[in-house]
Amino acid sequence: MTAAKSTGSKVGKKISNYWTVSLGSAKIVKNSFIYKNQNFKKNQRVKKLKKGTKIKIKGLKWSNGGYPRFKVAGGYLTTNKKNTVVASAGSNKVNSYIISNYFGKHAKIVKKIDKRFPKNKLRRGLGKPEGVVVHETANPNSTLKNEVKYMKAHYKNAFVHTFVNGSTIENIANTNYLAWGAGYQANQRFIQFEQVRVHSKKNFAKEINNAAYYSAYILKEYGLKPSLAKKNKTGTLWSHNDVSKWLGGTTHTDPVAYWKASGKKWFGTNYTMKDFYKLVKAYYDAM
Ligand SMILES: [Zn+2]
Repeated sequence: MTAAKSTGSKVGKKISNYWTVSLGSAKIVKNSFIYKNQNFKKNQRVKKLKKGTKIKIKGLKWSNGGYPRFKVAGGYLTTNKKNTVVASAGSNKVNSYIISNYFGKHAKIVKKIDKRFPKNKLRRGLGKPEGVVVHETANPNSTLKNEVKYMKAHYKNAFVHTFVNGSTIENIANTNYLAWGAGYQANQRFIQFEQVRVHSKKNFAKEINNAAYYSAYILKEYGLKPSLAKKNKTGTLWSHNDVSKWLGGTTHTDPVAYWKASGKKWFGTNYTMKDFYKLVKAYYDAM
């Protein structure tokens, strides 16, 4: 899904005017055409798209001249930012920044499964999670390495499946079994990951990007569709705070405060589960 141009190939002029990632969907903001192939010959136009049209993006392909094109049903569409905007990213500044700089450039999931962790079945059975819980460690001075080490030493009290920061996604517990991170109700239902606190604009954006990719990956992996947690206990994407509010058995409110403070500090805006959901959806749609 990463659409970075391989080194040595031609890259067109003013490439920053073009989207270079394949996203879930785009909105046409200036009348555009779908072309039969990525090289955009005028006589190979197959369809006109009017301003306001929303279209699903299936991938990205580079033209011989060095420009990225969106792969869509029936052909190829320009990625020029004057013609298309990313509908699924929404208007949140954190998301916009991620879309422009890091989308598709997430960390790889590194599996370092600790076999000592208890193996208890989820309530629907082995390998049948019902969603994902997003946590944040609430420790301003820890690193991912330290957090993993601590959890391995105290797994009999609590553990999650995975840790995420700006550069790493480390999976330490088998996601086919439950974890102990958010109380009885959530533990038997969901796969859970912790974000470690990071301390720069860049790392925060990269961490959210990794968290969104990982959430989408888990949902896809287990045949679940992205949907926000709701009061009626449905939904596949939960914060620990949502669990406390709607499922009970726990009182933590993460990652609400961390996202709010980080969003405000570096982007002058809040960042919420609604914003995060849009990014997860964009990743999911592109998978
Ligand atoms: Zn938590």
